[in-house]
Amino acid sequence: MNYTNITVAGSGVLGSQIAYQTAFHGFQVTVYDINDEALDKAKDRISKLKARYQEDMGATQQEVDAAYERMSFNSNLRAAVSSADLVIEAIPEIVPIKTDFYKKLGEVAPAHTIFASNSSTLLPSQFAEATGRPAQFLALHFANEIWKNNTAEIMKHPGTDEKVFEDVIAFARAIGMVALTLHKEQPGYILNSLLVPLLDAAELLLVKEIADPETIDKTWMVGTGAPKGPFAILDVVGLTTAYNIVLAKAKATGNPNLEKVAELLKTDYIDKGKLGVATGEGFYKYPNPSYEHPDFLNS
Ligand code: NAD
Repeated sequence: MNYTNITVAGSGVLGSQIAYQTAFHGFQVTVYDINDEALDKAKDRISKLKARYQEDMGATQQEVDAAYERMSFNSNLRAAVSSADLVIEAIPEIVPIKTDFYKKLGEVAPAHTIFASNSSTLLPSQFAEATGRPAQFLALHFANEIWKNNTAEIMKHPGTDEKVFEDVIAFARAIGMVALTLHKEQPGYILNSLLVPLLDAAELLLVKEIADPETIDKTWMVGTGAPKGPFAILDVVGLTTAYNIVLAKAKATGNPNLEKVAELLKTDYIDKGKLGVATGEGFYKYPNPSYEHPDFLNS
C-alpha cells in the first residue's frame, strides 16, 4: 500500500470522523462535499473532534492541530480527487445519490485511484459498474466514534482485485483500525449479522412476556461473560434507530410480534422521550445503569 493522498467524499457525521482519523495518522486528506456551506459545517464538526481526541486518546494539542493542518476542503469534485490514491465515500445512504456520485467520480478521478464505500446497508456490487472501475472498488465500513470504536469492515464484491483488497486492509491498519475482512458480500457485514438477530431475539422475548429486560440481559451477561446485554446495547444504539429497523421488518414480514415490538418501543419509550443513553433513559437509567452495579449479576 503506497497511499499518500486520501479524499473523503461526504463530510457529515461519519465522513468528518473518517477524514480526521486519516489525517491524525499522517495522511494528506481532502474533504469533498456538495457545496461550501456543507464544508463549513464539516470544519466546525472536525474542529470539535480535536477535544475528543485529547480526552479519549490522550492526544496532545500539537498532534490534534497538526492533523487538522493536513486537511484541505474542496467542493469541486475534479479538483478534490485530482491527486487521490483512495477516495472514501460517506454520502447519504440513498441509492440514486450514490450511483450518480460514482458515475461522476469515475469520470474525473485519476485511473489509479481506488474507491471505497462506507455504506452501512448497501452492497458494493450495486455500484461497481457505475464506478467504471469495478476491480478498484470495495466497501470500507467504519463505526460511529471511529477513534474509539475502531473497527473497519473491509468487504470485497465479486469483481474486486485481490491487491486492492490487501492494500485497503493495510490502509485501515495504518489509520489505527482493527481490520475485519469479509471475503464475500454480506448485508450488515459481520457485526450487524451477529448483533441484529440477538437484538431481535431479545425484543421478542420481551413482547411475548417471557422475561423482563434486566433478566434477559443478565442471562446473556452471565452466560457469555459479555459486559452488556441486548437491552443495554439497544440503549447505546438509540431506540429511534431500533424502532425504525423493527418497523421496516414488521411491514416487510407482517409478523405480529414484530409489530408489537415497534408499538412497545414507540409508546413506552420514544413518546416518553426515553431514547436510550443519549437522553439519560431507555431500558436503563443513566449515568449509572443497574447492569453496571456490582451485585447485578448475583441478585
Ligand atoms: P450524513 O447525512 O451525516 O452526511 C452525509 C454528507 O454527504 C452530508 O455532508 C451531505 O452534504 C453530503 N452529500 C450529499 N450528497 C452528496 C454528494 N452527491 N456528494 C458529496 N457529498 C454529498 O450521513 P452519515 O451518517 O455520515 O452517513 C454517510 C454514510 O456513512 C452512509 O452511507 C451511512 O450508511 C454510512 N455510515 C453511517 C454511520 C453513522 O453512524 N452515521 C456509521 C457507519 C456508516
